[in-house]
Formats: sequence, structure tokens, C-alpha cells
Amino acid sequence: MRIANLAGRATIVTDQGLIDVATQSNGAFSTSVDKCIRHLDNLLTWFHAADLDVTDPTTPIELYGDARLGPIVVNPQQIFAVALNYRHHAEEMKLALPKQPTIFTKWASSLCGPNDELPVPSDTTDFEAELVVVMGATARGLSVGNALTAVAGYCVGQDFSDRTLQMQGAPAQYSLGKSYRNFSPTGPWLTTADEIPNPNDLSIQCSVSGVEYQNSMTSDMVFTVAEIVSYLSNVVELRPGDLIFTGSPHGSGHGQTPPRFLKPGDRIVTEIGRLGRIESEAV
Ligand code: ZN
Repeated sequence: MRIANLAGRATIVTDQGLIDVATQSNGAFSTSVDKCIRHLDNLLTWFHAADLDVTDPTTPIELYGDARLGPIVVNPQQIFAVALNYRHHAEEMKLALPKQPTIFTKWASSLCGPNDELPVPSDTTDFEAELVVVMGATARGLSVGNALTAVAGYCVGQDFSDRTLQMQGAPAQYSLGKSYRNFSPTGPWLTTADEIPNPNDLSIQCSVSGVEYQNSMTSDMVFTVAEIVSYLSNVVELRPGDLIFTGSPHGSGHGQTPPRFLKPGDRIVTEIGRLGRIESEAV
């Protein structure tokens, strides 16, 4: 099942069209995707059992780029991000592979819809295509083997970064440098975990103004999604709606010679196989 936040309403996205969850369930489920995620098993059962009519004939592809789409989760309790989690990206940065996941946060006020504008705060603003995990359960102490059972699903994300602020000081300012306004778009919708049996077998691409800079597979991750979820859950309690940005493959702007940073007018298109496409315009 694919579920979007369309103009603030939880909306199931099918190949035949859109289904407004609250309307079609006569209010049994909330208009809020955040709340639907807490009852995802019930929602999936209802969706698969009921013979639902679409409430809008818009198809998934027609929904790409739609400015009405909001963030998948509006108010996550926690947002995690993983640094240096792709082998080729670590080589490009000339850094040794980490021995355990290296975690920072992107603060919640940086979340935005998948197609919202990106105000560029500096001349060292960079792009990073990322697979984003959305948690579906309260969980602690997950083993790698059962970690994915606590995942609600997956979406496409961008981890926009101001490299100057990110690298400032010692220790550096990773979290702040990645939390400017609209630095954390997610979307276009949540694809539930039952449809993605292996999140480490997805293609991931990013282009800027028509030039492809990132083109990789999530199989290049140093730590798999299951390993990241397990690692985090053995320190903190994971909660429904928590987001995990799982790192970016090689090819982001500061890895280019000369660096290719973002400037107003750039169009950043990020796509992950089976999860869809998001588009930001830099302003
Ligand atoms: Zn990143």
C-alpha cells in the first residue's frame, strides 16, 4: 500500500486513483498520516478487505511534483540520520569505513513536502539522495533478524546540507548543518514494508538541473537497514513515525571536481526504485 499526505489528508495512492482514508472509512481512520501509521496493520487489513472506490482518478505518476503533497510524517518524535553509509561514498570522501553506524539528527523543523522549494542558505549547499525508513512500532532491543518487523515502510528523502556549517568546529555541526528550512523533504508517499521485502535492493538516483550525479543501489550500504534499526533500538526506544535517513551514495556535490553546489534555479530530482520520485526547486 502507498499512503500519501495530500493537502493534509491521509490518502491511499493506487494505480487506479486516490482513496481518501477518512472519507472512505467513514471516519474509522484519521485524516492524519501520523495517526494512521500507529494503526497501520488495521489500515492494511481494511484496505485489502474492502472493495474501495477511488475518490480521485489521479494516478501515481500524475501525482509526481504535486505541490499539495506534504511530509510523510508531520511530527516525528525522533529523526535519525546515518553518515558515511555507502562504501563508494566513503571512498570518494577518502574516509575509512565506519565500524558502527555514525548517527546524527536532522531537526524536525527542517521537514517539508517532497516538492517544496529549497531556500539556498549558502554557496556550499549540497544534495544527498537518501532512502528514509519510517518506524511503525515502539521498539527496543531489536535483533538484526527481527528489526524490519518494526518498520512501517519507506520513502524517498533528501538530506540537504550546508557543508560549511556541517564541518564547522570540533566536534563538527552535522545536525545543525543539515537542518535549515526545507532541508529534509520526504515523499512522495510511504510505501508499506510488506511491498519492499528487501530495502537493500533498490536503485537510488539524484539529478540536478538535468545532470545525473548520483546513481547507485541501496545494496552499497555499509550497514543495512536492519542493522541500523537494530543498532539504534539497542540504545534508544524507537517510536511509530520516527524517521531514519539511511545515508547517501557517492556523487553528491562536494565529491565533484570542482564541487557542484546548489544555486537558485536548480531543480533537484531524487528517485528510488519502487518508492517514487521527489523534486525540489532551489530558490
Ligand atoms: Zn546524508
